[in-house]
Amino acid sequence: MKLSVWTYEGPPHVGAIRVATGMRGVHLVLHAPQGDTYADLLFTMIERRNHRPPVTYTTFQARDLGADTADLFRRSCTDAVERFQPQALMVGASCTAELIQDDPAGMAETMGFDIPVIPLELPSYQRKENFGADEAFYQITRALARPMERSDAPSCNILGPTGLGFRHRDDVAEIAALLADMGVEVNVTAPMGASPEEIAELGRAHFNVLLYPETAESAARWCEKELGQPWTRTVPIGVGATRDFISEVQALLPGAKVPSEARLRLPWYSASVDSTYLTGKRVFLFGDATHVMAMARVARDEIGFEVAGLGCYNREFARPVRALAKEYGIEALITDDYLEVEARIRDLAPELILGTQMERHIGKRLGIPCAVISAPVHVQDFPARYSPVMGFEGANVLFDTLVHPLVMGLEEHLLTMFRDDFEFHDAAGPSHHGGQAVARVETGEGPAPRAPRGISGKMKEDEVLWLDAAEAELKKIPFFVRGKARRNTESFAMERGLGEISVDTLYEAKAYYAR
Ligand code: SF4
Repeated sequence: MKLSVWTYEGPPHVGAIRVATGMRGVHLVLHAPQGDTYADLLFTMIERRNHRPPVTYTTFQARDLGADTADLFRRSCTDAVERFQPQALMVGASCTAELIQDDPAGMAETMGFDIPVIPLELPSYQRKENFGADEAFYQITRALARPMERSDAPSCNILGPTGLGFRHRDDVAEIAALLADMGVEVNVTAPMGASPEEIAELGRAHFNVLLYPETAESAARWCEKELGQPWTRTVPIGVGATRDFISEVQALLPGAKVPSEARLRLPWYSASVDSTYLTGKRVFLFGDATHVMAMARVARDEIGFEVAGLGCYNREFARPVRALAKEYGIEALITDDYLEVEARIRDLAPELILGTQMERHIGKRLGIPCAVISAPVHVQDFPARYSPVMGFEGANVLFDTLVHPLVMGLEEHLLTMFRDDFEFHDAAGPSHHGGQAVARVETGEGPAPRAPRGISGKMKEDEVLWLDAAEAELKKIPFFVRGKARRNTESFAMERGLGEISVDTLYEAKAYYAR
């Protein structure tokens, strides 16, 4: 048992639904209790699809458990095939159905449908949503794709985009356009938008572009082994990665053209003088491994931030994330427990968080700005406008996304220089964080008297007392780095057994950490 309030990923059958919903001409029959249809809302509300996912739930109830739930499953399959007439049928079980062990795969295979039936292994108690998507796409590919002659023109498949994927819709458009500029045709994009007939044609492409390792690496590996197709290892998020991706494609297809960079603005925007104040800002990154790894490079090498910490929630990718963190001289946080993420953020006190919907909440609580770079995301991250994160336009989008939540350079100066001003006083916060702004209380007196520490007059062992002058000096430090300065000074004092912090201690600590 594990107490859990937020989860970064859903159960694996949600991953299978993401694959089915992204595709055309397939239907998924899911052995699941009444109530599991909640998953439909992810697609009809968050992704704003205009149709229900192609999923039939058996929706068994308590009273069905005494009767024949297996028969209920069989009837659901027959009804679904009759009503929706799919080209292929996928079958699987949700967490509760896994416990009653009706064996949907075995049953569906013996029902004599004249379409391919693809059983899915979805171990709900060990694995999660991304695994479910990867497994579903792998099984479909394995069942339908066959070796065939390569196309005459240079071509590739785009693998990985699914329903409910963070910016998948626009990433696919951006990368397809980039490939077209290079003279490479897209044979099939899958699973998103593909029909079973098209999956059967995967083998016609010369190579595969793997955009989302979380959802399609197993299929890419299978295609390499069975269809002889190499696949790209670089995920083109950021300028450097997009250029590396282009070189990788050129190595696979020596005749491929160099695409134009005319639309790319990130390098100039981040080199222009207004971005100077971004240099060295401490960021913490958390999300799925692919987005975190790519964004760490963008943050450090393309914008000039300092990566203070990073981590991911999908343990399948723990190894590469740890290796990358090592390169950055930090320790990776691999966890799916948001409380651990919150503790790490609190500890590191970064100036910006790049994370998921969860980190947005954490950032709000801690008063740290946050930009969303990875699923899970809420409805506002399925925007109406064109917003890829991949390719050159994706790099432009990322520059705006990362810079928006920060206090602007001018405002940063004003907040520091005029901290006694009615508008720019500390408690007001940056002007665009309206919710935090509070009016300054003019008392006409000096600073509020400090509350005595501990009623008994005895301080706890790990407590140090800030003298008033030191506290006043601390306030001269801009508020967005003040938390970090306070914590550093306290640990400095504690390590030296000092009971109180004076102005001198504050400056000694500053000099010590600056070394
Ligand atoms: S089967 Fe799984 S997803 Fe469905 S309600 Fe039970 S625990 Fe939740």
